[in-house]
Parts: sequence; structure tokens; C-alpha cells
Amino acid sequence: MRFKSLEQLKRRNCREVELATLPQRVLITEYAMVKALQVNGLVRTRFKESFEWYGYTIARRDEPEVIIDIGLPVNGQNAHHYTGIGPESIAEYQEALPPGVIINGWVHSHGDLDYRQFSNIDEKNHLTVLDYVTSLLRKPVARQEVVIEDLQLLVEGEGSIEELREGNVFLLTDVPVRAATLMETVYGGFCYAMVVGDAGWHRQKILCKKRTILSGRTLVERLEDPELVTLRTGRPFTESDAETLRDEIKRKIKPLAAHFSSPTAPPHRS
Ligand SMILES: [Zn+2]
Repeated sequence: MRFKSLEQLKRRNCREVELATLPQRVLITEYAMVKALQVNGLVRTRFKESFEWYGYTIARRDEPEVIIDIGLPVNGQNAHHYTGIGPESIAEYQEALPPGVIINGWVHSHGDLDYRQFSNIDEKNHLTVLDYVTSLLRKPVARQEVVIEDLQLLVEGEGSIEELREGNVFLLTDVPVRAATLMETVYGGFCYAMVVGDAGWHRQKILCKKRTILSGRTLVERLEDPELVTLRTGRPFTESDAETLRDEIKRKIKPLAAHFSSPTAPPHRS
């Protein structure tokens, strides 16, 4: 196949109208941030050693961009890869939440490891949580032109069957139309990921998923290292909150079945 010029290879700009934006920063209340970091300290106090745990970031359904709490599911015994984060376990946790409250991401710890980034397994888990979260929480973010290379405009009741042999998309109208542009809705959703360490550090990431309703295209966008904005809401993390969390850790987090503690072991396990 030959092209007359490179110009032919370029796709013309398709029309797009933006309706809404997805978060570019991670918003978290002071309470939730303190709680995320507190889990590490409480785990270390309880088990006399550091290890990794995971949880979900929680938001109000009517304000899904703001993390207001950290939810701890029962962490599996053999948590080396957190393969337990599957759609069923996320759904189980979501279904137990009060109405009006949703999961908007996940958080986990690298304990005392100095591995301050997301691993490939973290990315897989993030995609799993993204799929679940966006199935519950998506909104129209744009109207986008459907690019049709060969649109046939036909009038209902006129023409012959032969005309249907031409073109690849047909628009049947009741009156003659000379030109038409098809626009489709793009739905979008997002999912946060946070990783925290015993030393008080944190990293975060946002995945956004967009899907076109008619042509069924899916696009995942990654925001590496977005800004984390801590919001003051007037709700401090109190000693009584710490007591509740201590009790929750006792019930839900179990020591790992085995540890990679030797210096020759893989540097990172989740
Ligand atoms: Zn990790």
C-alpha cells in the first residue's frame, strides 16, 4: 500500500468538548493522613517488628476526590504479594461500608524498607482497584467525535439495497442530510494509590480510566507523583481513635508467614 504523502497518514483533529475533569492531585484529610502513618507505628508496637499491610482509601460518594478515612480489610497471612486484592475482596469491603461512603483507592506500607516507589505488583493491584472503583464511580468527562472514515448518509425508504454495500457506518434519516458528525460520551473515573513507610515518608499516584460509550475505547492515564494536599477539617486523630485502630489491627492484621529479612533477599515484596 502506498501513501501519496505523509499528510494522508495524519488523522484530522476530532472535535471534543470537555465536561468535567478528573483529579490531578491527591486530596486527603489530616485525620486520614495521620491514620495512614499511624498504622505502621501501631503494627510495630504490637508485633515488635515492622511489616507491610494494605488498606483502602475511603471517600464520601458525593465528594469522591477527598480521602476521609483509611479502611483496613483483613490482611492475608501470606502477604508477600498481596495477591488477595481481587475484585471479590474489594467488593466485600465496599459492601460492608455505610451507604454514601466509597472506596476511591488503596494504600499500603513498605514498612521499614527503603523502597520508596511503586513496584510492578503495586501497579497490578492499582489496576485491579481502578477497575472496581470506576465500575461504581464514573462520570461523563467529555463528548468526543466518533471518527468515521466512510459514513454513508441514507434517507429512510429511499435508495436501494445497493447503497448499503458502500461505506462502513450508515446513518438513516427521515430527511436528506448532507453532512453529519457523531459525538459520543467519554466516561471517566480515577483511583488513588498511596504507599507509606515507617520513617514517615509517602508516595502517591493516580490512575484515570476513560471509556467511550459507543466505540468502546478504553484509555488508562497515569499521574506519577502528583501533589498530595492535606486538608484541615477540624477533626484530629485522637487517642481514642488510636485505641480503636489498635483494636482493629489486632483483629485484621496478622504477622507474615515468612519474612525476607536477609540482605540477599529480594529488596521488595509487594
Ligand atoms: Zn509495594
